Amino acid sequence: MLQAAEFGQWQRQRSAPSAVLKIALRPPQKASKSTKTKKSARPLTMTEPKRGGCQCGQIKYELRREPLGLAVCHCKECQRQSGSAFSMSLAVPGGAFQLRSGVLKTFEVMCDSGRIKTCAFCPECGTRIYHETENGMSVKAGTLDDTSWLKPDSHYWTMRKQSWVVIPDGVSQFTDDG
Ligand SMILES: [Zn+2]
Ligand SMILES: [Zn+2]
Repeated sequence: MLQAAEFGQWQRQRSAPSAVLKIALRPPQKASKSTKTKKSARPLTMTEPKRGGCQCGQIKYELRREPLGLAVCHCKECQRQSGSAFSMSLAVPGGAFQLRSGVLKTFEVMCDSGRIKTCAFCPECGTRIYHETENGMSVKAGTLDDTSWLKPDSHYWTMRKQSWVVIPDGVSQFTDDG
């Protein structure tokens, strides 16, 4: 909280139009609240665009907007596609994904829901880069250059999960696609 003297000084320093002055004249507790908001609005995970690419290096991309969430899917299709135990899909807002080099190839599959899913991959090495449906785009999170900050917030198709995979407490789980 600002001391009264500091607060007055701060007001005097601002040769601001009335709208801003109105904010400045709010009681000190409001001022400290707005400081807090300003602090939390500074994203820890998106200080600069996140970059990623394929295994052979021809495809490079960046994410210019903060991701929406990270889902893990244990379904058989995701196991087959990744050649691994599960897939990680990082939901991103429209316009976030920007291709920096290379040309992606795409094909379409029909999901169980009946939606058409467009799958984009590197035509040289086959690395899957993103999936897109009418609901939005998800980037295959393992293709990011830095994966150290990734933390899944939900797990799907746990009925197909490999038995050794342990899901941490407090993370949303769905036996199927939710
Ligand atoms: Zn490649
Ligand atoms: Zn899946």
